[in-house]
Amino acid sequence: MDSKLSLLKTMAIAAVGLASLTAQAGGPGPHWSYHGHGGPAHWAELDPAFEACAKGVSQSPVNIKKTEKADLPALGFVYGSVSPTLWNNGHTVQVNLPAGNSLTVGDQSYDLLQFHLHTPSEEAIGGKRAAMVAHFVHKNAEGRLGVVGVLIQPGKRNAGFDAVFAHLPRTGEKITVDDLKLDLAGLLPTDHGYYSFEGSLTTPPCSEGVSWMVLKSPVTVSPRQIEAFRKLVHDNARPLQPLHERVVKESL
Ligand SMILES: [Zn+2]
Repeated sequence: MDSKLSLLKTMAIAAVGLASLTAQAGGPGPHWSYHGHGGPAHWAELDPAFEACAKGVSQSPVNIKKTEKADLPALGFVYGSVSPTLWNNGHTVQVNLPAGNSLTVGDQSYDLLQFHLHTPSEEAIGGKRAAMVAHFVHKNAEGRLGVVGVLIQPGKRNAGFDAVFAHLPRTGEKITVDDLKLDLAGLLPTDHGYYSFEGSLTTPPCSEGVSWMVLKSPVTVSPRQIEAFRKLVHDNARPLQPLHERVVKESL
């Protein structure tokens, strides 16, 4: 693909907006990470605003083991073809998207803001984590977040994700690929059956009140693409959090 690359080297601090809104940013504030002194066990000690990371009772990610079958509303993805901006914020590679893509769940309507990747997957199913997960972050008019998790396993290449993996930015880089069109619907599995539960952001400040929808069917990308992502970002999955009183619902 003869794409014109415009590369903006940027300090993470220069890029606020969507990302900091969902706390996936490496913006101003205490330094947190996935290992050592800034690691998940210490997030709440880094800033009083991160208190929920230790004290919350509806934290994510969770192990999806016992579920309750329920007549959940179908997920209505209105995903188009877009020109993305890829940003490596030091915690993940986040793909920022222009407005115009949405998700409806029953009477709720959410706008799609961005998606980003974790390796291994943060959520586990029956105690097993997938190789990766893509989190599609949506927000409704009241500011409530709805995150759709798409598990990624090694296998056949996926034309949709090829575009992302072909342009992985290095730490701190933001890449806009002018003539690249990303087919967002092509990033999803064909079966949209899902698990549903209440949870939180999986990064500081670990704010709760996030509706999680984890698709039951995974998609695949090539083992080489997974390896390339791991080399770049390393392990960026928060440890599993206790369910406490929560129930995981599963679509029929
Ligand atoms: Zn995430």
